[in-house]
This record gives sequence, structure tokens and C-alpha cells, in this order.
Amino acid sequence: MLFNTIRSRLTAWHVCLLGVILIAFSAVLYFFLSKRLHESIDNSLRVSASVVRKTARMQYSRTPLPGLEYFFDQFLGYGNLNKFYRIYDGSGNVGSRSKGIDASKFPLSQEAYTSALKGEDTFETFQLEGDHPIRVITMPVLREGTLVNLIQVGTSLKSMKETLKNLRIFLFTSVPTVLLFSTLVGRFMARRALEPVSRITETARQISHEPDLSRRIPEPEVQDEIGNLAKTFNEMMDRLESSFRQVRQFSSDASHELRTPLTVLKGQSELVLSKPRSPAEYREVLSSNLEEINYMSKILDDLFTLAKSDEGRLNMEFQTVDFRSIIEDVCRHVEVLAEEKSVRVVVAYLEPVNVNGDPHRLRQMVLTLMHNAIKYTPSGGEIKVSLEDQRKQAAFTISDNGIGIPDNELPLIFNRFYRVDKARSRDEGGSGLGLSICKYIVDAHGGKIDVESQVGVGTRFRILIPKLDTAKSRNAA
Ligand code: ADP
Repeated sequence: MLFNTIRSRLTAWHVCLLGVILIAFSAVLYFFLSKRLHESIDNSLRVSASVVRKTARMQYSRTPLPGLEYFFDQFLGYGNLNKFYRIYDGSGNVGSRSKGIDASKFPLSQEAYTSALKGEDTFETFQLEGDHPIRVITMPVLREGTLVNLIQVGTSLKSMKETLKNLRIFLFTSVPTVLLFSTLVGRFMARRALEPVSRITETARQISHEPDLSRRIPEPEVQDEIGNLAKTFNEMMDRLESSFRQVRQFSSDASHELRTPLTVLKGQSELVLSKPRSPAEYREVLSSNLEEINYMSKILDDLFTLAKSDEGRLNMEFQTVDFRSIIEDVCRHVEVLAEEKSVRVVVAYLEPVNVNGDPHRLRQMVLTLMHNAIKYTPSGGEIKVSLEDQRKQAAFTISDNGIGIPDNELPLIFNRFYRVDKARSRDEGGSGLGLSICKYIVDAHGGKIDVESQVGVGTRFRILIPKLDTAKSRNAA
């Protein structure tokens, strides 16, 4: 296709526009020049006729007036055989006239005579066969309202017509030449300007055919539109690469997490079946297997939740929620667990706050944080819970004096499957997915979760959830 590239379209637009401008300019130039030349010839005819009128004698002879030939040559130009004057009397009979003029070719027209009777000048153009047109002025000489003389002065339009013809030739050759030149230059410039785009396309094509996503487009030094395009493309590739890395990491982590309990299940089952066992031994193995099955089913549940949240399909049922009662409920629920581990749960203060949220998900988030606090706090430790009604948000804080998290690992604990101490978390039944889900739930409520921790001193999670009024205005916005 002729115009299937930006380069050819750009060039075509540019040349069309230039063509329209040049043609319009040429037409206007030609029109005004031609008008101006006609006006100037008419003016010189009028001046000449006035001079003839003054020079003419009352008595006409059939010979040229002395000095007029010289004047005509000076005023209307040398060498023009067609310039002439004629003087008629009031009845239209020729009196004096220039030499060598064929009067029959320019008879006094009825129209010019009628206008002269009214005292008006008349301009006429006579087209002689095979020759250039002649422009003639007929000027009346009136005395006390009576037409006494008629003065006719004429000149050839040859030089004017030739000037206009030359201008036409110039315009008809120069406009296409300029357009041709502009097409060539335009194509060259467009090619140069779009060269980086071709390079970007080529690199992008190579990237799309290779499994390696680490390739990047060389960014031009100048940060123009093309530079920005290359930069944006590279940024997109960075994100894609990191997403692919995460997906790969996630799949490998997930399969690893599921393989471990499966290996345990398989090993224990094979072992128990290798020889006859007592009912007590069977019961022990079965209950251990059940633990592994519960662990796997929790991982699968969590994975399912995260998969749905990734797809945006984790439907939240937002409603007015009494956040305090959720926390109280969870505290009651984990009491036994905490007691078993000799960890004290202290409810410092719980202010009544209503938030706009999904009660089921908020409960899941509080429960995960409580479970974690109990899991990672040794016996004799203490967990403090508080809920504060701040101006625009509910601030839920849960702090423990447990094992803490090293500084360098703090930013990672919300990542999927990330666990500071893998063995310990596994022993405690942790999958490394709990905090990722918590973060998703808090984000979905328009809130914020942050954590402070010191190894051996304790950990403090703070969750901010917008209050009902704030959440409503946010949703309405
Ligand atoms: P897990 O199921 O392993 O607890 P989470 O996503 O809930 O996974 O937590 C991620 C990691 O963060 C945990 O493995 C643990 O190392 C660390 N962590 C979470 N809560 C606490 C806490 N209260 N004290 C110390 N470490 C914690």
C-alpha cells in the first residue's frame, strides 16, 4: 500500500498542504499583478489622452500634431507600432491622427460615442486577428455641455500579456519543482525522524521472540517523544519481567509448600503399611496425616483467596461494621490458644468505631494477626490490643513482646510465602501467606498496614481503616 507507513502519510500531508498554499499564493499573485498592470495601462492612457486634448488645436489637420509622436514614444514606450492617437470632431469625423494607423481596425464605437456625449471616458479592448489586443480610451472634450472633440488614445497590450505569460510559465514550472523537491526532502526528514521508531520496533520484535525478558531498548540521549516511548517501553518491560519473576517464584514456592506435606504423608503411610501395627500406632499416624492434610487445605484456601484477589474477583460485601466487636470476638476466640501457650492477651482499650467494610474479611485479618502474635511470642509473653477512634480512621494496634523480625526482612514479610524462620513457621502451621492476605484486605478497605519490630523485643502491627463517613465520601468520589 502506498500510504501504509507514517513516513509516506506525513510526507503526503506535508506536500498536499504546501501544494494548496503555493497554488493559492500563485493564483492571488497572478490575479493582483494582472489587475495592477491593467490599471496602470488605463492610467497611462488617460494621462496621454489628457495631454493630447491639451495639445490639440482647434483646427484639425489630417497630419499628426507636432511633438505628439515623441511624447507617445516616451510615455507609452518605444517600438510599439500599435500606439496611436486620433482626434475626432464633435460629429465623429477624424481630424488629426498618428501616422501609420489603420483607422478601420478601430472604428469609433457607438457605445464610446454615446458615453462621450454624456461626458464619460470609455475604455475598450480590441482583439486584432493574429495580433495582441489593443486597449483604447475615448475621451470627450466638452465646451458648455456640447461635444466638440473626441480624443482616442490606444496602445498594444503585448508587453503586459507577455509579462503575464512569463509569470504563468514561471509559476507552472516552479510550483511543481518546489513540490517535487519538498516531497524528496520531506521523505528524507521523515525517515530520519522515524528511524529510532524502526529500531524500537525491531528490538521489541526480538524481545517478543526470545524467552529472555531482560533485553531493553537503547534509549536515545534526547528525551523527545521517541526517547519517552523507549523509556516507557523499558519501564513496561521492567514490570513485566518482575511480574514473570514473581509468578515463577510463586509457582515454585507453592509447589514446594505442597510437596513437603505430601512427602510426609507418603512417607508416614508407607511406613505404617510396611508391617502390621497396633490400633494406637495407626491412630497416631492418621492424626499426624490429618494435620498435614489440614495444613495443605489451609494453603490451598489461602492460595485460592489470593488468586481471586489477583483477578479482582474476591467480592467484598461492604457494610457498616462495628470494628470493636470484631476485635472483641477474635480476642475471645484466641483466648484458649493463648492460654495453652501461656501468652497473655491484654485488651488495652477498644474505642467504639464504625467502619465501612466486609465483616468476614476484617475478622480474617484480625485473626491472622492475633494468630501470628501468639505463634511468634514465647510462653510468658504478652500481646496488647487496642482500637482508637481517630478523626478520619480507626487505628487498630496489636503488639507483642515476641521474637521480633530483623530490620532487613521487615519489607518482605508481606510477600507471598515469605517467612523469616521457615522451619519455625512451618512447625507452627504457618504457610507464609497470612500477611499477604491481610495486606490485600486492608488495601481493599482503602486502609494502611505498617509494622515496627525489633529482634528479641517484639513486634507491633498498626492497621488504619477509614471510618464510615470518610469511606462513604471516598466511595462517592
Ligand atoms: P506465616 O503463616 O508463616 O505466619 P505470615 O504471612 O502470616 O506467614 O507471616 C510472614 C512471616 O512474618 C512469618 O513467617 C514470620 O516470620 C513473620 N511474622 C509475622 N508476624 C510476626 C510477629 N508477630 N512476630 C514475629 N514475626 C512475625
